[in-house]
Amino acid sequence: MPRVLLVAATTGYQARVFAEAARRLEFDLVLATDRCHVLEDPWGDRAIPVRFDDPYGSRDVLAASGPFDAVVAVGDQPTLLAALASEVLGLPFHSPAAVAACRDKYLARQRFQALGLPVPKFFRVPVSADPAETARRTPFPCVLKPLGLSASRGVIRANDTVEFVTAFERIRALLESTDVLALREEHNRYIQVESFIPGREFALEGLVTGGKLQTLAIFDKPDPLNGPFFEETIYVTPSRESSDTQQTLIDATSRAVRALGLTHGPIHAELRLNREGPWVLEVAARPIGGLCARALLFDKGMPLEELILRHAAGQDVSAAKLSDRATGVMMIPIPHSGIYRGVEGVEQASAIPNVEDVIITAKEGQKILSLPEGASYLGFIFARGETPDCVELALRQAHGCLSFEIATALPVVRR
Ligand code: ADP
Repeated sequence: MPRVLLVAATTGYQARVFAEAARRLEFDLVLATDRCHVLEDPWGDRAIPVRFDDPYGSRDVLAASGPFDAVVAVGDQPTLLAALASEVLGLPFHSPAAVAACRDKYLARQRFQALGLPVPKFFRVPVSADPAETARRTPFPCVLKPLGLSASRGVIRANDTVEFVTAFERIRALLESTDVLALREEHNRYIQVESFIPGREFALEGLVTGGKLQTLAIFDKPDPLNGPFFEETIYVTPSRESSDTQQTLIDATSRAVRALGLTHGPIHAELRLNREGPWVLEVAARPIGGLCARALLFDKGMPLEELILRHAAGQDVSAAKLSDRATGVMMIPIPHSGIYRGVEGVEQASAIPNVEDVIITAKEGQKILSLPEGASYLGFIFARGETPDCVELALRQAHGCLSFEIATALPVVRR
């Protein structure tokens, strides 16, 4: 029975799907997480306690808990620990250097540039820099972003100096917030400035084996993403682009994989496409996040997590094929920050033809934050159908049925 190490920052949905897949495959899955104190079964007392803010110390803990036959990671921070552990345990996984480059938007751009991939003009400055002075050497329109956050958190477009200064100060406040400081990541002390790349956006889900990319799915992102904030909403696959265009997206991602030095494991890439061709925005050394992975089913209904486990354990998955039906997910955006009170219309939304599931993840009474400070969604809508168009329509119609109540949090007035 292969013994597989799962490194996960949350014990939420995706970790559970990995556990179910491992059970089906009769793999012995061992969880390593920093959430041991809140863990419920099925792992409970078996989980290995680690600290993602101490990757080297935690690597040694994992090495002492071996041997393992394979390693997989859920979430951004765990990819680094998984890579470090794989090195000492002798397991195939992306290298720590490659994972570190994926997790740092400045390093990634440098790697892309070194291999001749198209990159926007880019530079980084410390959060303590003077924004007005920084704006003077900025090409407009531009995008300002933290180096190491995800889900578009802190990513803001600015068209002129005034917008630049406001955006810079907003990102600085975010990077100095307690939850970001608690990550204790060196790269969170910088802000990156990039020229704005116009164009349509896509995501590519893949597996890398021996440095070679296997494309599992290309997602269209049909909502225009022009800023000032960049909210992920709809993902639909298969892509409606021509096979030539899809091939250019695959080629660009393959080159980015090479530039970053990614060698073994899942990847999730984001790209833009315009008249000049494809631009890789970023490649993450992990699968598509959390619930969204539900959209992807392979062969006879195999979830992405099972495919990843098989691949990690050395099985040949090169013939894996996405199921024939078009599929899509909508990450339900948070329209404004406040206290989540509830939702109406879930039943109507679920009844829309081709809608498979409507999952509201916000909890009553929860404080929710919209972009650019926030990093979560109200929930997810899943649809499956004959064509990408009918899937997209179903997602939009279902979203139209939902009405959310979000109370504005009143500021505390101290006397
Ligand atoms: P994250 O890792 O938080 O998702 P990204 O760098 O991928 O950060 O940026 C999030 C989104 O912001 C992208 O999906 C894209 O829509 C937009 N974006 C980021 N950089 C640029 C850029 N240089 N030009 C245009 N849009 C951008």
